[in-house]
Amino acid sequence: MSFQNPVFIPGPTNIPERLRKACDMPTIDHRSPLFGQILHPAREGVRKVLKSDSAEVFIFPSTGTGGWETALSNCLSAGDTVLAARNGMFSHRWIDMCQRHGLNVEIVETPWGHGLPADRYEEILTADTGHRIKAVLATHNETATGVKSDIAAVRRALDAAGHPALLFVDGVSSIASMDFRFDEWGVDVAVAGSQKGFMLPPGLAITGFSAKAMEATKTATLPRTFFDVADMAKGYANNAYPYTPAVGLLNGLNEACGMLLAEGLESVFARHHRIAEGVRAAVGAWGLELCAVSPDVYSDTVSAIRTPEGFNATRIVEHAASAYGVAFGTGLGEVAGKVFRIGHLGSLTDVMALSGIATAEMVMADLGLDIRLGSGVAAAQDYYRANRAPLRAAA
Ligand SMILES: *Cc1c(COP(=O)(O)O)cnc(C)c1O
Repeated sequence: MSFQNPVFIPGPTNIPERLRKACDMPTIDHRSPLFGQILHPAREGVRKVLKSDSAEVFIFPSTGTGGWETALSNCLSAGDTVLAARNGMFSHRWIDMCQRHGLNVEIVETPWGHGLPADRYEEILTADTGHRIKAVLATHNETATGVKSDIAAVRRALDAAGHPALLFVDGVSSIASMDFRFDEWGVDVAVAGSQKGFMLPPGLAITGFSAKAMEATKTATLPRTFFDVADMAKGYANNAYPYTPAVGLLNGLNEACGMLLAEGLESVFARHHRIAEGVRAAVGAWGLELCAVSPDVYSDTVSAIRTPEGFNATRIVEHAASAYGVAFGTGLGEVAGKVFRIGHLGSLTDVMALSGIATAEMVMADLGLDIRLGSGVAAAQDYYRANRAPLRAAA
């Protein structure tokens, strides 16, 4: 039994007891067949969570950021052009990484709070008749702004332009919590991390590569050693890694995929949607607004909530931590001090969400904001009562 309050940051997320236990295992020889019994089911589980029949799954001891580097360094060469929109801190950081790797980034500046502009992508790709652009980058869920983007629309933009660029999708804060369709959307590289939807401690970069992306690795010349998928594939063929794998985390990942698939992916997504709708009902009752500009881009994994003009939103996060021992997310980059974030992904129930909403109310009231205690909780309760969660055994 844990007496730690749940966290409401958009990663790392709450770790179910069952996964903590799965990560806590005795040392095994990571070059023995026993390791293969952990590795291969974990990779198969990830492939299912990605909704793919054939993606090559590569898992590195790293984090989501290492997953970005895996995508870039294995598929591209110095001087290549990539297309990316900047609509938040995570898309910004990915662009920065591209530039540091000597890639030329065609940046579509997009107001924070908006989704990826697939129509602009289509115009740019259509105009690129020489196919200078080698990859299109898409952040599925901008964790800084609580904005989801339409990856199917980005695929349609590529197809409408008849453009052969690879499609790289950052799904770090969406995969395993929000619908993600690797095969159907024609994703070439998907990137996730262990500490968000997979409900594990941080420490794994989880990637999926399409056949087309694997083909691109053969001619790409960006330097790579630790993140080389060819070395990794050779290791996997022998139930091993090119170096020491994070065995406990991989065992946890295997278990996490089992939990997600047993709950059913559609049920997992529905649970996140329901929890998020309750949080959004609370935000409305508080008279506050989301950073996300319209319902079609509302994220089901994180809500970035604007506070009144002149109020430093970071104070909410500081006060919640010091007064109540509860963690919310701060605003990042352009929206620092303007929003605070409630993370609602991973291992979470309606009841847990209510405690976060209640805490946020206490904090805002303490800080003198015009919030009536119970107003957001009641709005969320109404929503949860009307949309009751299917009961299931605790994992
Ligand atoms: C958390 C996050 C990252 C960074 O992942 P790390 O595991 O911290 O390296 C990248 N992209 C998105 C969308 C994220 O939410």
